[in-house]
Amino acid sequence: MSVMEPAVSIKHVTHWIDGKHVASESGRHGRVWNPATGEEQARVDFASEAEVDRAVESAKHAFPGWRATPLSRRAECLFKLRALVDENHEKLATVVAAEHGKTLSDAMGEVARGLENIEFACGIPTLLKGGFSEQASRGVDVYQIRQPLGVVAGITPFNFPVMVPMWMFANAIACGNAFILKPSEKDPSVSLLLAELMQRAGVPDGIFTVVQGDHVAAGRLIAHPDVKAVSFVGSTPVARSIYESAAKLGKRVQALGGAKNHMLVLPDADIAMAADAAVSAGYGSAGERCMAISVVVAVGAVADPLIAAIRQRIAKIKVGPGLEAGSEMGPLITREHRDRVAGYLAKAESEGATIAVDGRDNEACQRSGFFLGPSLVDRVRPGMSCYEDEIFGPVLSVVRAETYQQALHLINENPFGNGTAIFTRDGGAARQFQFDCGAGMVGINVPIPVPMAYYSFGGWKASLFGDLHMYGPEGVQFYTQAKVVTSRWPDPGTSSVDLGFPKAR
Ligand code: NAD
Repeated sequence: MSVMEPAVSIKHVTHWIDGKHVASESGRHGRVWNPATGEEQARVDFASEAEVDRAVESAKHAFPGWRATPLSRRAECLFKLRALVDENHEKLATVVAAEHGKTLSDAMGEVARGLENIEFACGIPTLLKGGFSEQASRGVDVYQIRQPLGVVAGITPFNFPVMVPMWMFANAIACGNAFILKPSEKDPSVSLLLAELMQRAGVPDGIFTVVQGDHVAAGRLIAHPDVKAVSFVGSTPVARSIYESAAKLGKRVQALGGAKNHMLVLPDADIAMAADAAVSAGYGSAGERCMAISVVVAVGAVADPLIAAIRQRIAKIKVGPGLEAGSEMGPLITREHRDRVAGYLAKAESEGATIAVDGRDNEACQRSGFFLGPSLVDRVRPGMSCYEDEIFGPVLSVVRAETYQQALHLINENPFGNGTAIFTRDGGAARQFQFDCGAGMVGINVPIPVPMAYYSFGGWKASLFGDLHMYGPEGVQFYTQAKVVTSRWPDPGTSSVDLGFPKAR
């Protein structure tokens, strides 16, 4: 890939401004680790405020031309981008796996889910169709159009370095905006590969920009008067503070935060299916997914057989480097994060839970990378740290509930409301759960209910700050502002002076 080679022997990850790699002059940088080996593999520039200003200036300059570009031409660029991402599917996934640590097949899945958003945005001529009311009054027509906002920014997390930016930029650019991405500093390289593909697809320079960095770059993007809207995905404390800062400045903002997704298993559930789902959704991507299942709520007698089935499946999971053939679960993103996650196992023991499977004993922990094996904690109760906090690692907690009502209460009392799932064979119970539960995305016998690109993605409560969910129809709404036009063409036969308030006649 074409990240620039620096004077030091490791890779140097730059910004992408005005269609070119731009090395930072801020003197600040971050270290990018190889989570599979524990070694530093790249340095990423951290933008100064002045460098962010330069990026915004370039985007602002490019915006009017792109805004005036016909819809069919914008759609053509997106079709080309779709083809290029498809052609480079494995290349993108390999860059992700190398910096994030996830397995290649998982990274391939991430790119595929991101691609759906580009496919959705290819339909932008239809998506931007407004409404038209002929003869709202005599000789008067009323219609609504949606127009782009201008320069918009996206600040994204480490766990989906391709998919989450695509959630944002596909619609933002299709709607006619200039988009600035501030990727996670933990796995930044793939953002530059995306920038190159955009350029090859014909997206004009300045319409897709990357500024690398930390809170300094993010903070300046939020505060810059020419940045009209901010999309954020990351942890809840940062989401809340970004939402508050942007809203105070009167900006449009959607800030998606963390999660604590519960999977409710009723006594009539298919135990094998529920165990497969809990293991896949609990340990896939080492639990570093905002839609990961982190709590299984086992109702009644289902608990013991379910736990036995989960343990059997855990014993077969192959933990290893994401790019090594046969690996099913990779390392965590950094050493500090791995230690923090492992710390929850020690706390769970001291707080009275039972460690049914201890990932600290997994043989992968002997390797030099940031590994922790899949862990299962039984007899977890509200109040324990592993129940209260978002762990964001391969630790699955089991809470035993006596009734559906008790289980539902746990879900609805939880401060997060990203996703939840129910496993049952009873259609009536599932429908009641869909009616009752306080979460934005619900699975019925489906553990990770990430909506398709033609719906929108978003949680409730502390999992989303703002009104509009991300991507899909709500994404188009977020990146455009409505304008309603009331129009009459001169007709001498109907013209008269009338000082009253205009009303339909
Ligand atoms: P994070 O909050 O640490 O970082 C996210 C982004 O914010 C990064 O680009 C980072 O550089 C930037 N950032 C960090 N601190 C900042 C600050 N003080 N001011 C401004 N910007 C700041 O999150 P992460 O560790 O990269 O990602 C994991 C988190 O993201 C988890 O909590 C996970 O649940 C959440 N997540 C949520 C969703 C969702 O759709 N709700 C999706 C993916 C990830």
